[in-house]
Amino acid sequence: MRPRDRAAGRRVRAGNMRTGSNLPAVGEYNQTLVLDLIRRSPEGLSRVELSARTGLSAQTLSNVTRRLADDGLIIEAGKVISGPGKPRTLLKLEPRSRFAVGVHLDPVVDTIVVVDMAGEVIAHDEIPGLREVAPGALVTAVAAAVDAIVDRANVPRELVLGVGVAAPGPFDARGGRLLDPPLLPQWHNVNVREDLGAATGLPVIVEKDVTAAMVGEMWFDRSDVLSDAMFLYYGAGVGMGLAVAGAPVRGRTGNAGGIAHVVVDPEGPLCACGSRGCLGVSIEPRVLIAEAGYVGGDPRSDLDRLVRDARDPGHPAAGVLHRAGERIARALVITNNLLDVDEVVLGGPVWERLAGVLADVVAERVASDPASTATLPIIVRRSVVGVDVAAVGAACLMLDGAFAARPARMMIAL
Ligand SMILES: [Zn+2]
Repeated sequence: MRPRDRAAGRRVRAGNMRTGSNLPAVGEYNQTLVLDLIRRSPEGLSRVELSARTGLSAQTLSNVTRRLADDGLIIEAGKVISGPGKPRTLLKLEPRSRFAVGVHLDPVVDTIVVVDMAGEVIAHDEIPGLREVAPGALVTAVAAAVDAIVDRANVPRELVLGVGVAAPGPFDARGGRLLDPPLLPQWHNVNVREDLGAATGLPVIVEKDVTAAMVGEMWFDRSDVLSDAMFLYYGAGVGMGLAVAGAPVRGRTGNAGGIAHVVVDPEGPLCACGSRGCLGVSIEPRVLIAEAGYVGGDPRSDLDRLVRDARDPGHPAAGVLHRAGERIARALVITNNLLDVDEVVLGGPVWERLAGVLADVVAERVASDPASTATLPIIVRRSVVGVDVAAVGAACLMLDGAFAARPARMMIAL
């Protein structure tokens, strides 16, 4: 099923509406705001509906939609008759008007995708063998993968907005340079933004993988409900993507979201930081596999075996995954006590493998954890984007940078 379909039918929250401004100085903001509304309404919107939702005058709205149509971003798609008066023309997104490439650099599998303006993945590849490439040739290898996938997707290069790169932290957000991600030693001190930009001739954005995942999830959230949210990304490492008031939280250096050293189990395994039971080490795939008593082979098949064995309540694997779920839930509750979010999203490659067993444990435990100070139930759900969420999110960053309507951006423009 496509992410769009899965996201359909979600609740819409009143009071979360963003309104436009009729001042000429904020024309660009209005354009992104109107585009954002049209994008989130696959069935199309009329100018009258857009006017009602944005507070923009008919004249301003007419100018804005004409500019969007001139840029090829929206199309007129039929008319609807509703009540007296002349039929209304529906405006829809033209999904193939622009494209973006997303790359996820990851200790287990490097992924590359092309998405269209609707965020739909139109091409997907793994970049094999990047781990064996010499540090000096890494960027060239990624650039070759970008060229190959753009060709294969049959997308005009001039319609590609750029390349979003998601990678584990820490990184230097200002320079777009990876610093020393512990699980990617070959990428230490690589100037990804500049070097990949030079090699591809395309704009490049570099983002921490958990923030990219949060952005990807928000891009697919058609109901616009992900205002205050967190995204627990569970892959080779664990991290937390955050959104407050509808915008991703990056922090001072772009490295927000480190949750690995939150203590979730005082009896848990010893962490490199000196504490016992930090979240990161307590749910590390290697640790779970050892706790279940497996000898340990290919981590992916070991994780699948864990899920299979856990179906038998008497098997040690059931206890291991139950405890892992409780540990995750405790970290979510502690973070939620700090942030007070609407929604918790869980995703990442390891989560996708274990969700069959973990999802229920985590949801139940978040609802009943005595440490929780939540006064309303917290929605806990799986990522709608799925296993490629960091790569898709990285591509969406490119779309987001160009087209998402954020009042904060209007402030800067003013
Ligand atoms: Zn620790």
